[in-house]
Amino acid sequence: MFQVLLLCDQSVMVRAIYFFKTFLNILRFSLPLILIFMLTIDFYKGMIIGENDDKQQIIKKVGNRVIACIIVFLVPTIVNLTMSIINKAGYGNGNYFQEFASCYDEASLELVKKLESEEDLKLSEIEEQKRQESIILAADYQAKEAAKKEENRKAYQDSQSGVSPNGSYSSNLTDLNKQNGVYIKNGTFYKPSGPSGKGCPGSNATSKGYNNSYGYNNYFYIMLTNLIKGAKDAGYNLSISSQGCRSYKTQVEYYQSMEKGRAAKPGNSRHGWGIASDVTFYKNATTKCGSKRTRSNCPGMAWVHDNAYKYGLKFPLLNASYREDWHIEPINLKTY
Ligand SMILES: [Zn+2]
Repeated sequence: MFQVLLLCDQSVMVRAIYFFKTFLNILRFSLPLILIFMLTIDFYKGMIIGENDDKQQIIKKVGNRVIACIIVFLVPTIVNLTMSIINKAGYGNGNYFQEFASCYDEASLELVKKLESEEDLKLSEIEEQKRQESIILAADYQAKEAAKKEENRKAYQDSQSGVSPNGSYSSNLTDLNKQNGVYIKNGTFYKPSGPSGKGCPGSNATSKGYNNSYGYNNYFYIMLTNLIKGAKDAGYNLSISSQGCRSYKTQVEYYQSMEKGRAAKPGNSRHGWGIASDVTFYKNATTKCGSKRTRSNCPGMAWVHDNAYKYGLKFPLLNASYREDWHIEPINLKTY
């Protein structure tokens, strides 16, 4: 049996051929039956009328009908047989006629049903494939969204934490002369245990032996100045608070007016010893970063956070519950 080709790969086509075949078969058997019935009538008529002329006519009529009957019976039979032979013998293999013969011969209700179920299967496979594709697309979308979210989260975390604010710092500097209670030994600042803010030099600090008018500790101020110069060389402005030494009275005011935990307890703030500063960051040489600064939108801050340790300075409150990305102190600091 030959492979059912193009013509017979669609259920609609096979169904049409099948109906045509069925119609021919019905004709083949029903017409002779009708004929027999009509012959009976003719015969009956002939018997009743019983005239010679009419008998001749009747015989002629009957003869015609028998011939018609044979033709009607034979034509579909011959057609079926021919188609079957062409199909099974592979005569004219591959051409359109052979294909039609094959299709005609094979056309059956079973084939129609088989093709229909195959078509349904194909359709459902396509549906399933589409469904799978949409699932993959959705998963892909979700993964991309999740990755984006994670990237944003990391960027935010990065912007909030700072990278290396606490590098080590070594220096041989020693100056045991106390300034506001603070002295230096082998590069480490030593501060008294408290209270801070009591020994601030006030507004006229330079007249009291300070190298700056703000009241910062002289060596801390040198570190700040070096950091400012380093930032400037890197292309960023950096400014420091003019409040070089915060008095005990001011700290009390901060402590009382600010949210609890925000300002250090009066007597504890390192600002009161002139060894802490609050700095202002810049995007470049001139433009300040706003309050919504991040490492990426405020490259001057990122640079200062990353490089402060090289100047002996650190930002100890980057990861505090009250984060202060601006508060700077010496790395080497101890209490005596
Ligand atoms: Zn501060």
